[in-house]
Amino acid sequence: MKKIIALALLAFPALAQKASDALPRPKLVVGIVVDQMRYDYLYRYWSKYPAGGFKRLLGEGFSYESCHYNYVPTYTGPGHASVYTGTTPAVHGIIGNNWFERETGKDTYVTDDKTVQPLGGTVAAGQMSPRHMLSTTITDELRLATNFQAKTIGVSMKDRGSILPAGHSATAAYWYDGTNGAFISSTFYQPDLPEWVKKFNAAGHAVAYLTKPWNTLLPIAQYTESSPDDVAWEAAFKGEAKPVFPHDLPVLAAGAPAAVQQVLKNAGDTKNPQPPTQNLDLIRSTPFGNSLTTDFALEILRQEQMGQRGITDFLAVSFSSTDYVGHQFGPNSIEAEDTYLRLDRELARLFDALDKQVGKGQALVFLTADHAAAHAVGFSNAHRLPGGGVGPAVMRDSVQSALVRQYGPGQWVLSYENQQVYLNRQLLKKKNIELGKAQQDVAAALLTLPGVTQSLTALDLQRAHWSEGLGMYQENGFYAPRSGDVLTVLAPSWLEAYSFPVVKGTTHGSAGAYDTHVPLLFWGWGVKHGESSAPARIVDIAPTIAQFLHIQEPSGCSGTPLRDVLGR
Ligand code: ZN
Ligand code: ZN
Repeated sequence: MKKIIALALLAFPALAQKASDALPRPKLVVGIVVDQMRYDYLYRYWSKYPAGGFKRLLGEGFSYESCHYNYVPTYTGPGHASVYTGTTPAVHGIIGNNWFERETGKDTYVTDDKTVQPLGGTVAAGQMSPRHMLSTTITDELRLATNFQAKTIGVSMKDRGSILPAGHSATAAYWYDGTNGAFISSTFYQPDLPEWVKKFNAAGHAVAYLTKPWNTLLPIAQYTESSPDDVAWEAAFKGEAKPVFPHDLPVLAAGAPAAVQQVLKNAGDTKNPQPPTQNLDLIRSTPFGNSLTTDFALEILRQEQMGQRGITDFLAVSFSSTDYVGHQFGPNSIEAEDTYLRLDRELARLFDALDKQVGKGQALVFLTADHAAAHAVGFSNAHRLPGGGVGPAVMRDSVQSALVRQYGPGQWVLSYENQQVYLNRQLLKKKNIELGKAQQDVAAALLTLPGVTQSLTALDLQRAHWSEGLGMYQENGFYAPRSGDVLTVLAPSWLEAYSFPVVKGTTHGSAGAYDTHVPLLFWGWGVKHGESSAPARIVDIAPTIAQFLHIQEPSGCSGTPLRDVLGR
């Protein structure tokens, strides 16, 4: 065969020229975001990871051991947008998962878009698009570079985990709707769901995962890296007496009497399980949300022939269940550990499929997180570590009362969101109170509250420039048309607890290393094995991928290529 090709090349020199002219590029780029993954999870559970998942990335790929976010708030929407645009909320405009819209006086959701229609799911879950994101993404740039021949597809349990990475010009983005247990989309992308997606949804995968209790993967006594199972700071599932294993998913999902549960449980053992429940949303808060995401990602690879069409495609996968589990149980829980041990197996399944369908070393893969997380407050305090909780409603009401005392009656505070106070600017104008003065008064009021260490006004942020420190994090996260009037900073390991004063589970959002330090691993096509402790920023990922592919970086990009992994 080789001889025939050589002879053919001699006879037709044009063919030889064509082969050498082909630009070397990976067949596929796979971006993996693990929602709420702290850097230390790579090593914390090391001895329990088999070879095919995280250990394969670390053993064959390149690891940036000190990769951080460089803005606040460290939330899911901003995180995914920053990974894929290579810039911060100050430029891409995704300042939170929700924000107060001054024009409408209402809250808006990050991927909300009332101009599009749902495909395969409910109106509430399906009217979504990336229109709020102001920059192109690396996925958009690949589409542009290939004259839209490359396919770019996003998948995640969370809408924002799929929509923002896939970009504006995406081939498709799919996310989960808990009302019907389906992967859905919107008319922003295509007029209808492809037949293969409808078929996948009709097979009832989500239902099947909820027919068995969630037990630990390994014997529970082996989870020595984590706190005991029954601790006060973990939140139990609704309908559960204690937050302990086994979490009886068929019962929890159904919420029906015990006798009915038994019938449903039995049904779960048959080949065609009966739907046990209407609460298919429950799967999000279990490791099986990640399994379902993998199932669907593998189906995308097969059905869309990703990386198998002679052009570089891009698959953006985001694993969301790690975040839901992390919020509910905290980083030191057996639930979190079990979720990562199981995610590791799902990664191995994905890498195996890449080997088989795209070819060994033919896909360029990166893995990172959209933010990390603080330890649960109860856990920290039980071990004499600093930390505490504040109630967002308490913050808002305290500022409002302070302003009433100062300026008289009136609704001075319109909203408190993303650790930011939105003032009633119309009322201030009417009462002849200068906005700058009101912002300073709010900043002073905030500083009297427990846990608050710093407060910055919007005016400060527009006038000054910080290249480091807490000011830098605030400045990079500030986008004047959408951000609030005053931004608060909490002490390390203090967090916003919506269940305040009872603080269960944990959250993220701060500039603390526990929220900003995430894994950054590259693996596969063009990646040499190695590691670097040189500081890397999350905004450097997109321009690095752009360099690997020899394409333009995204339109708002402020990061710089990581040279160690590029080897140039
Ligand atoms: Zn997240
Ligand atoms: Zn979260």
